Amino acid sequence: MIQKVLIANRGEIALRIIRACREMGIKTLAVYSEADVQSLHVQLADEAICIGGPRSSDSYLRADRIISAAEIADVDAIHPGYGFLSENAKFAEQCESCNIKFIGPKSKSIRIMGDKAIAKDTVRKAGVSIVPGSDGPVENETEAVKVARKIGYPVIIKAVAGGGGRGMRIAHNDVSFAKEFHVARNEAEKAFGNGAVYIEKYIEKPRHIEFQILADSHGKVLHLGERDCSVQRRHQKLIEESPSPFLNADLRKKMGKAAVKAAEAAEYQNAGTIEFLVDAKGNFYFIEMNTRIQVEHPVTEEVTGIDLVKQQISIANGDKLGFDQSDIKFEKHAIECRINAEDPARNFTPSPGTISLYYPPGGFGVRVDSHAYSGYAIPPYYDSMIGKLICFGPTRKVALQRSYRALSEYLVRGIKTTIPLHKAIMSDPVFIEGKATTAYMEDFMSRTPTDLF
Ligand code: ADP
Repeated sequence: MIQKVLIANRGEIALRIIRACREMGIKTLAVYSEADVQSLHVQLADEAICIGGPRSSDSYLRADRIISAAEIADVDAIHPGYGFLSENAKFAEQCESCNIKFIGPKSKSIRIMGDKAIAKDTVRKAGVSIVPGSDGPVENETEAVKVARKIGYPVIIKAVAGGGGRGMRIAHNDVSFAKEFHVARNEAEKAFGNGAVYIEKYIEKPRHIEFQILADSHGKVLHLGERDCSVQRRHQKLIEESPSPFLNADLRKKMGKAAVKAAEAAEYQNAGTIEFLVDAKGNFYFIEMNTRIQVEHPVTEEVTGIDLVKQQISIANGDKLGFDQSDIKFEKHAIECRINAEDPARNFTPSPGTISLYYPPGGFGVRVDSHAYSGYAIPPYYDSMIGKLICFGPTRKVALQRSYRALSEYLVRGIKTTIPLHKAIMSDPVFIEGKATTAYMEDFMSRTPTDLF
């Protein structure tokens, strides 16, 4: 039985994991960097160990120090959260070989799904449609141009090791392709230490719709419905909701089945997400699997009533999933707004600093997952998300109204945030009508005066 968990993360997700552990009677160990001494996860965990300097490369990415902390504090499992080491197969393997349970999939599944080219090949063989593209990485420009012409422009050049919306370039013809191909390779090398890229058809104005998977170690694989994450800026999600206003029951069923097949193909265990792009006609294509808990997981929790982090811990413990596909009901609508310390009026420049006043909204149908508090100094070293506002109700209309109401109550003084931007989106007719595709944000920003934010 898991009795003590090391949380190899910070911020709101570290708090989220502490909350699940506490409800399960499991002790928690926080690890933190020198920049996070004042962080809530350090205050709220049962124990805390400092593992290094402010930069992630000196702390949250130091597998050796995290494993040492786990051994010193005698934990029996590590929860990696999202980002940092969560999709690092080597780290999962190190945990496995030290007899510490990694609360996530087996390293083998991370390896398959972490290389986007292998991932696509694996799910294609299992009968799931993928975006047309190169068979694996393309080695040189001549070969790449041939592939691009064969697929037909526009194409997207993507890093095999990509993530977080980075390492992607779009080309509309041979000339722009030659340029973007080199830029993409250089960027990928710098960002991920792996310059390999592959090519895909660029789907115009698709929706990003992903399915939440839960799989236990006894072979049961279920899906918990979808999240529509089409509202993105520079390929990074800003708003997520469930159910998707685009899917009908028939398409949901088809995509859910495909998602389960894709997870099975990677012999997946634990919580994971299968991401699809969906075109206007309802054709859907697998783009990648995220082999971890995701930022937007609360949307699914509120719709289904299932605590995903507790399920992750139980699965890592070897327990069987206590329900079947037919037991999972989608009875609510939930919308999540990511609250980032960024200035939307100034091209989303990061706005670190001290929060002079913090007052989160509450009331019926409102959930806030955040590590912010009045007086909290946001360190400049990590990502800019300071919280997530999740509003839910019986219908999409109620969830929208509730989101607008809650955003109006949400006070964060001393820094700039995305709160006013979300308010403007919640009252935008295109979003209200459920018509947002991944092209939505660019259009919204071009027609909305920035003095609104
Ligand atoms: P990452 O791992 O960096 O998040 P993904 O492959 O998940 O990258 O893609 C992120 C986003 O980029 C998608 O949600 C979508 O908006 C856009 N995108 C990726 N591939 C394509 C494609 N083939 N056509 C159009 N848009 C794409």
